[in-house]
Amino acid sequence: MAVISPPSAVQPAPLVDGIGRRISYLRLSVTDRCDLRCRYCMAEDMTFLPRSQVLSIEEMGDLAERFVARGVRHIRLTGGEPLVRRGIDMLAERLGGLIGRGLDELTLTTNAMRLADHAPMLARAGMRRINVSLDTLDPQAFRHITRVGDLDLGLHGIAAARAAGLAVKINMVALAGLNEDQLLPMLDFCAANGCDLTLIETMPLGEVEADRSDHYVPLHQFIAPLRAERSIWPVDKATGGPARYFAIEDSPVTLGLITPLSDNFCSTCNRIRLTVEGRIYMCLGQDDHVDLRAALRDGGDVDGLIDAALAGKPRAHDFHIERKSTPAVARHMSATGG
Ligand code: SAM
Ligand code: SF4
Repeated sequence: MAVISPPSAVQPAPLVDGIGRRISYLRLSVTDRCDLRCRYCMAEDMTFLPRSQVLSIEEMGDLAERFVARGVRHIRLTGGEPLVRRGIDMLAERLGGLIGRGLDELTLTTNAMRLADHAPMLARAGMRRINVSLDTLDPQAFRHITRVGDLDLGLHGIAAARAAGLAVKINMVALAGLNEDQLLPMLDFCAANGCDLTLIETMPLGEVEADRSDHYVPLHQFIAPLRAERSIWPVDKATGGPARYFAIEDSPVTLGLITPLSDNFCSTCNRIRLTVEGRIYMCLGQDDHVDLRAALRDGGDVDGLIDAALAGKPRAHDFHIERKSTPAVARHMSATGG
């Protein structure tokens, strides 16, 4: 009797782009909506996507699983504000279930307005660390920058996350004239609360009414007051991400610097971005994308489209803050997922 051997398990091809960069990090934007309106990110009056155009929680889970099967080891949930998306708990639980089965890490970036309610759920889902965006510790300045935010809610959210066992890294966008006085207080806050701190240069993404270049400040200038007081030195913490890390004299805080404008970091980029519409953007700073939604809904060749996107991943972004009136790309950071 002939013995029929089972079909050999075909390993899905790993994600490698046209210039050999291995893609292992997926940023999944779970909504373009937000409960804040940060001035550098959004216009006051935003039009959000109609529900018919956004992926369901189940569709996002299916796509995320496909990316993990192809070698993605880290997924970050972002947005818009991920914690305003209904069903975020189900998605976190589903993706958390992939940890140890291909996925190493599930993380989140949030403005923390709803974090106090969600932190225990995130920890239960298997999350170990999150990023919280916090540009100032001054309540009035916080309200001004976010237009509608309440600083106390954010601080409670951070405390709840720490109490739930989550490591917290604060993301602070450097804004000339708005938070230059806040670096040293923020470092003290981070030291007191067991957080790390990453500073980000403002990037020209999407129309935001005011001229963003008015608030652009290169990070070497933003950190000058710190350097005047304490030494800082580089530490080896290769994450494949855009930040360079530094230790600070007499401080437990690791300082990250993200300098897309003053110092390009694209050559080691290991990431891919999936929007809530089901589009893959291969670069935050370019418009090229591939649409997976129709293929996903009609049973089309999703993997073939992912391969096409990879082949077209650009070498570098195209940010130039001096192009005053026109942002590098028209879509907002909240649409692509920061
Ligand atoms: N709503 C969440 C939050 O604020 O953390 C997640 C999405 S937000 C788009 C992700 C990160 O992008 C935040 O740290 C935010 O400060 C940053 N961001 C938004 N617009 C930016 C811009 N134009 N330039 C630099 N960073 C920006
Ligand atoms: Fe919302 Fe985050 Fe953009 Fe602020 S930075 S408006 S919190 S998406």
